[in-house]
Amino acid sequence: MRATVNQEFCESAGVCRGLVPDVFVLAGDGTTQAVAADVPLELEEDVTLAIDSCPRLAISLLS
Ligand code: SF4
Repeated sequence: MRATVNQEFCESAGVCRGLVPDVFVLAGDGTTQAVAADVPLELEEDVTLAIDSCPRLAISLLS
């Protein structure tokens, strides 16, 4: 399962990056991106929290 950030909605303020820095990162162009790799099992709960905490509802999970 991979996380993805919809750039159309993301404001890049970094709530998700603060919660799960191993999955959500600040790219060189200032956008917030999810790493391309699958979310490790031990971080799935944290990613779910990030999804629920995202003020722009910009995070999705891809199976
Ligand atoms: S919490 Fe949501 S709006 Fe904020 S940087 Fe992450 S994906 Fe973007």
